[in-house]
Amino acid sequence: MAPIPVSDSPDLEYLLDGYRRFRDNGWKPERERWEALKEGQQPRVMVIACSDSRVDPSQIFDVNPGEIFVVRNVAALVPPFETTPGHHGVSAALEFAVQFLHVSQIVVMGHGMCGGVQAALTQSMLGCEPGKGGFVADWISLLDDARAEIAAEYGTTGRDAERAMEQAGVKVSLANLRTFPCVRSKEERGTLKLTGALFAISDGVLYLLDETTGTYHPAT
Ligand SMILES: [Zn+2]
Repeated sequence: MAPIPVSDSPDLEYLLDGYRRFRDNGWKPERERWEALKEGQQPRVMVIACSDSRVDPSQIFDVNPGEIFVVRNVAALVPPFETTPGHHGVSAALEFAVQFLHVSQIVVMGHGMCGGVQAALTQSMLGCEPGKGGFVADWISLLDDARAEIAAEYGTTGRDAERAMEQAGVKVSLANLRTFPCVRSKEERGTLKLTGALFAISDGVLYLLDETTGTYHPAT
């Protein structure tokens, strides 16, 4: 097969530089691992994280290919169990991880300075058409109930409000996870654990949610 001509996109070239390093330094030494992985994946953990470019779960948890099954989206949200028409991407990934890969742990990882959470607070995209902010507005409206309480206490701008919203967002996703019958029943049987977490970008610290108190504490 003839190679594709060199791209005229500097951004793609930047990626391809990384790909070449991966082929030289990442892929060859780990060839056996990749060889085994071609048979299939058996991750024990699913991570639901934000699409934000600063919070890559594989980097934060320093894991190898095949170890975590990841879904990333705006604000690391899980929708409730819904059977309405539409394409339920997060629900599909969740179903696959829980029912077919049989993961034993799900981590919902929000993060500090999350633009999606910020937009949920300010409702800056409310009323926009789909394609002009409307998809984001609809998606982050999953946080509307939590927002109402936080807005009443902290307002809708500033770090206190944002931090409260970031913390609440993870709890909303955990609650929504538990509306999925397969998640709920496996958690009740003790074969699936759910954990909430927040990654603070500025200092690189991961906070874990203690669901008995509703508070976050640095992971040690
Ligand atoms: Zn984010």
